[in-house]
Amino acid sequence: MTETSFAQLTDHFYWMSPGPPDRPSLGAVVGDQFTLLLDAGASAAHAHLFRAALTAAVVPLPRYVALTHWHWDHIFGAEALALPVIAQTLTAQQLALLATYEWDDVALDARVHTGAEIISCADNIKIELPAPRQIHIIESTLTFTDSLKIDLGGVNCTLQHVGGDHAADSVVAYVEPDRVLFLGDCLYPGIYGVPTWQYTRAQVLPLLDKLHAFDAQFYIEGHGDTVLTRAEFTTLTTRLRLAADLVGEYGANAAAVLAAAERAGQPRDADLIETVQDFIAGLST
Ligand SMILES: [Zn+2]
Repeated sequence: MTETSFAQLTDHFYWMSPGPPDRPSLGAVVGDQFTLLLDAGASAAHAHLFRAALTAAVVPLPRYVALTHWHWDHIFGAEALALPVIAQTLTAQQLALLATYEWDDVALDARVHTGAEIISCADNIKIELPAPRQIHIIESTLTFTDSLKIDLGGVNCTLQHVGGDHAADSVVAYVEPDRVLFLGDCLYPGIYGVPTWQYTRAQVLPLLDKLHAFDAQFYIEGHGDTVLTRAEFTTLTTRLRLAADLVGEYGANAAAVLAAAERAGQPRDADLIETVQDFIAGLST
């Protein structure tokens, strides 16, 4: 993971890239009337870093923050932002649940033990927020179920619920006329699977259809270091769709799936092998 960078990508969109230990992409949509932030960050420090970068770029102060999903690294910064939170209904439910949790090391370790939390998240929380830590989960101010179109003045941002294996509440944000699609983590596998990460064909194929319905030119992943062009996004989704289809055809026979993928022109690299493993893991869900 490279260090965080900040850039104006298009007329109305600013991007802060991911950073260690597990800080995700943050976005700002800047209209004539107001500024909307996309995701709240992993901590107060992360949120303040983003606000400082926006201030240095002379961006008008944000009025709202919208969340892509409930995972800690996307929401813990909300208290420091002190903004009304826009969230999908399922995200709002998760925030209400997380607000009842304790976040000290003992409580985190206990949730890892029961399977309510995974060790990689607990480890990264401990790095991002060393003990003793005080975490106050901010609950949503405004919720939506399917989609919400926000007119910021000269630019629209559509929040669209897309779901997927990674998190059932996953939302993407589409910025027009800039044609930026802020993906959050929706394209990643489910991370709460046992014993490994999981993709399912039943979730991935409809998700890809929903994402391709947007006429985007730039695609921003939650934990991707670069902005993807439309061609790069298509390459990524073609590989995911092929892996889904081939595991659907060959089942848990990884060698047969990989051989067929190679015949279809996919290089047999670590990413393909992991993707296929995740789809095979998803067969048992
Ligand atoms: Zn996530």
